[in-house]
Amino acid sequence: MTVEFDVAVIGLGAMGSAALSFLSARGAKTIGIDAYFPAHALSSSHGDSRLIRLGYFEDPSYVPLLQRAYYNWRALEIRLRTEILTTTGVLQVGAADSKIVAGTRASCEMHGLAHEVLDKAEMGRRFPAFQLDDDEIAVLDPQGGYLRPEAAIAGYLKLAAQDGAVLHFGERITAIEPGDGGVTLRSADGLYRAKKAVVATGPWIAELVPQLKAHAVPIRQVVAWYQPRDGFATEPRRMPCFLRDEGAGGSYFGFPAIGIDGVKVGRHAHFRERINPDEPNPPVNDADTALLDGFISKRVPAAAGQRVNAVTCRYTMLPSEDFLLDLAPGNPNVVVASPCSGHGFKFTSVVGEILADLALEAATSLPVAAFSFDAMNRFECGARVTDIPLG
Ligand SMILES: Cc1cc2nc3c(=O)[nH]c(=O)nc-3n(C[C@H](O)[C@H](O)[C@H](O)COP(=O)(O)OP(=O)(O)OC[C@H]3O[C@@H](n4cnc5c(N)ncnc54)[C@H](O)[C@@H]3O)c2cc1C
Repeated sequence: MTVEFDVAVIGLGAMGSAALSFLSARGAKTIGIDAYFPAHALSSSHGDSRLIRLGYFEDPSYVPLLQRAYYNWRALEIRLRTEILTTTGVLQVGAADSKIVAGTRASCEMHGLAHEVLDKAEMGRRFPAFQLDDDEIAVLDPQGGYLRPEAAIAGYLKLAAQDGAVLHFGERITAIEPGDGGVTLRSADGLYRAKKAVVATGPWIAELVPQLKAHAVPIRQVVAWYQPRDGFATEPRRMPCFLRDEGAGGSYFGFPAIGIDGVKVGRHAHFRERINPDEPNPPVNDADTALLDGFISKRVPAAAGQRVNAVTCRYTMLPSEDFLLDLAPGNPNVVVASPCSGHGFKFTSVVGEILADLALEAATSLPVAAFSFDAMNRFECGARVTDIPLG
């Protein structure tokens, strides 16, 4: 039997759940379909916490989208009557001319965002958990903090269902076929007909969007949790979320002790090891734990107690390490929702709105020109993902 919908959302992780909620709230007849039960351990959206920050070192052009994302996160909290975004401030630590520190300052200055620049002595007084080299400084983004990914996704799905969305879990879409002014979706369980489809399948995106086969690379990511040694220095007001620029050694991120497992840290993109999304995540190994143990002992010794947990997760990288939010080339009834290159969760609340705009209006007033297929194809230098050998 074929069932008719206005919009079918494939993949109900961060981006898909938000899109489904926005679409359903606008009165569209929707269905959301996920191959598993979100937010599961093979996806990119589990693990208790995700950083959010406003002074975006990656590029100041992200800031207007982030301002909208903050607004939408607070609107979600009001609808759910639960806290999703906790403000702790985010410290961005490194040499003054490092990408993270200089980029954060540039973003804050360009957009007139509140921020503080702290030298090593001031850091020692206010944030004693962190060890800085003599030439290092920190930029405090007071609006930064962390999001609860599982609660956000469950919340978006709950709101979507309340607004009438049909939800199918444990069902994998195997094909999207264009035709008759819409699309037909195939799974082992049935056929679905919709005017539009939103594809938000994270690490599996290239299976349904062949234009991304040469571009979207799923890689392995590892995070570990440590029980603090010094409860005074790691008390969350003295130990906010942080990013640390280690130059050629990459960049690290960390969270205060939010739950019983303690302080969480990881290195952005870890060892950049390519994975097959259909296979289980390769387990945590000695090289993974040596990297993270070494980092926390050297840079956050107050938190470097027993390592109590470590897990693998997945990033899906584009060559530009940017996003992709666009209509599929040659099939404007399919909206493609970014694999977000390891920094997308904080944008979920605005990406959902953008995807709903693209599905219902084929356009959005939000600034997404940089995230088009054209922009991706123009990005010529091959950049970080393809230049760095993937294991
Ligand atoms: C360890 C880690 C730390 C991170 N830290 C941060 C951070 O601090 N701040 C930040 O902003 N971002 C962060 N990110 C990035 C961010 O979490 C991701 O960009 C985001 O969660 C990706 O969401 P998604 O919806 O694209 O994919 P996913 O959440 O992976 O969802 C994809 C869904 O599609 C489903 N699916 C796949 N194929 C099919 C199919 N054929 N049919 C039906 N369903 C299908 C899957 O089952 C899955 O549920 C981090 C990522 C990781 C892994």
